[in-house]
Amino acid sequence: MKIICIGRNYADHAEELNNEVPKEPVIFLKPDTALLPPKSPFFIPDFTNDVHHEVELVVRINRVGKHIEERFAHRYYDKISLGIDFTARDVQAACKAKGLPWEKAKAFDGSAPVGDWISIDNKDINNIKIHLLKNGEIVQEGNTSEMLFTVDRLIAEVSKYFTLKIGDLIFTGTPSGVSAVKSNDVLEAFLDDELLLKVRVK
Ligand code: MG
Repeated sequence: MKIICIGRNYADHAEELNNEVPKEPVIFLKPDTALLPPKSPFFIPDFTNDVHHEVELVVRINRVGKHIEERFAHRYYDKISLGIDFTARDVQAACKAKGLPWEKAKAFDGSAPVGDWISIDNKDINNIKIHLLKNGEIVQEGNTSEMLFTVDRLIAEVSKYFTLKIGDLIFTGTPSGVSAVKSNDVLEAFLDDELLLKVRVK
């Protein structure tokens, strides 16, 4: 399986990092080794001093598809969760400054914890509340209605380039409020006030 991630999909987050608001989705990948095993702590890698949390809605693909039309995209997922796109911001800044790819900053082992899966059945994918607590305090808060590109649009865009396969995950971008984590932090991610993911930082 592969993990497809979307950057800068909320205008307020693009602005907090002084990035342009994109005209088309910013897409990058993480390998399956980026998945953090459930209940495992997240260990801050030794190559960075500035790992940020980015809480994101995650969609799991349940059918094979290529060149999926936006109006049919809803048929390609039925489970959602929350994930954290851990980002070594210092490494990313160095990559960006040189115009290099971001993988070292974004795709390292354990950089993609994902929570419990819930059914999309009773939810409107375009109106889902997300928030993240760090040590019990709200640090990130958003609603999928604020996305620059909807989930269905993202599936259409992504599937122009990559065949989507069963079990592939799409991280759909983070709202504002990203910040550095340190050892002993506890992150808790909520979807419509339901706790789906808890990660301890080591
Ligand atoms: Mg992200």
